[in-house]
Amino acid sequence: MSGPSNVEPPGGPAPSAGFRCVLDRIRRQWRQSPHWLQFRGQARRYWLGKFGRSYIAQSLLRRRGHCQQCGMCCTLGRACPFLTRDRRCLIYGRLRPAACRHFPIDERDIEDVARRGGHCSYSFISPGTDANQARPASK
Ligand code: SF4
Repeated sequence: MSGPSNVEPPGGPAPSAGFRCVLDRIRRQWRQSPHWLQFRGQARRYWLGKFGRSYIAQSLLRRRGHCQQCGMCCTLGRACPFLTRDRRCLIYGRLRPAACRHFPIDERDIEDVARRGGHCSYSFISPGTDANQARPASK
């Protein structure tokens, strides 16, 4: 003999289909919001800086171009204190931290800049391109 059918499952009643639909819509909109995309980019770069050094080294071999010092990457999160009013870096020479020298780490960072309305002057060649072409870009 089975138990009563009106017993709630552990954790409370299951959400209705309408409620789940609203939650899915909120989740989709949040994942496309500039705040989320900005946070995701920052978290990814932080993570790679701590634990993905080999990925960064490999990815930088594919990077081409040079920095035009537009300052867009310096304002992707909180604006860098070394960025001047005319968007120049005060420590661009040898004092720049690795996080700045490594930007953009890969194509996703270029997309982050584009999402903010900027244009990063770097580009990346496809993975697996001839090793003779794989030389790091200057910055
Ligand atoms: S967005 Fe690209 S070109 Fe602009 S400052 Fe950053 S690395 Fe340089």
